[in-house]
Amino acid sequence: MSLSREQLEAQLHYPLGDTLPASGRSLEVAPGVRWIRMGLPFALDHINLWLLRDELDGRQGWTVVDCCIAHDEARAQWEAIFASELQGLPVLRVIVTHMHPDHIGLADWLCQRWNCRLWVSATDFAMARLGSQSTTGFGGEAAADFFAANGLTDPESLARIRGRDSYYPSLVPSVPNEYHRLYDGLRVPIGGRRWRCISGYGHAPEHMALHGEDLGVLISGDMVLPRISTNVSVYDQEPEADSLTLFLDSLEKYLPLPAGTLVLPSHGKPFTGLHERIQQLKDHHRDRLAEVMQACSEKPCSGADVLPVLFPRALDLHQTTFAMGEAVAHLHWWWMTGDLRRERDAQGVWRFSAA
Ligand SMILES: [Zn+2]
Repeated sequence: MSLSREQLEAQLHYPLGDTLPASGRSLEVAPGVRWIRMGLPFALDHINLWLLRDELDGRQGWTVVDCCIAHDEARAQWEAIFASELQGLPVLRVIVTHMHPDHIGLADWLCQRWNCRLWVSATDFAMARLGSQSTTGFGGEAAADFFAANGLTDPESLARIRGRDSYYPSLVPSVPNEYHRLYDGLRVPIGGRRWRCISGYGHAPEHMALHGEDLGVLISGDMVLPRISTNVSVYDQEPEADSLTLFLDSLEKYLPLPAGTLVLPSHGKPFTGLHERIQQLKDHHRDRLAEVMQACSEKPCSGADVLPVLFPRALDLHQTTFAMGEAVAHLHWWWMTGDLRRERDAQGVWRFSAA
């Protein structure tokens, strides 16, 4: 019997308790590190952003980490932050952990607003640029074909996925033409303190977490979240991806960090208990993998077939697309170890069975 979400959370510690930054305000969580929380119009209803006190090219100011989506509400919240939280100083650079819309959506706006540079990994820069072009925006026909090949056959769902071809550019209408590259191991001095980039895979193409070595702080982005498990999906662009292996291998890279590290996640509250949380995430996926293997040993299963195994609750379409990607990721983990093999049926659906 696995532990409940509440029992798992009890293994973590939230040093700020239930305190949240007020809308349009920030809250100091470590010296020179301030927490901003903005609303999102999704089931995941907020994102955490960070302000780091900085000095760049002889100028005093702030580095922003992550941006929120390109919505007017988010721009208005930023303007309130600029007015009250920057001590009259400018934003000097914009760091983005990865290319998902809630993180990079307003990067171009922020960079133009402050005439400053975007810092991001090369892969996520390129993918965000591609996704923001309306002609190559993700989703639409290719996504519908991918979901159909993994057993999502409901015509209404497929039609709605087909019609959702401008979802990414609607949240990320533009990305700067130029950027400063972040990569694994890169040391970035911020405000006279050392920060080190840690790459992570399986959630986004090349996610960058930032370890503030002097402060004992980890800006974990979406790679380590306290309450929800990171979405680990296979997408239509890379239909044979082994995202779960990439994700689980990436988690190992946070284990050398000190036990007392304060984790600043993109969703949820700052916490300590990084090593406990990593173990929880490994346990979570190990349990899900066992369930998927059990299902596939009873009968050949498509991604859609294992959805109710992994997600026993009702899902709306948006959640279903995430869940399908996650289901395929778990099937592919076993497929790559050689324990499952796949076969395509007459309808073009991939089904996995014990090898
Ligand atoms: Zn993300």
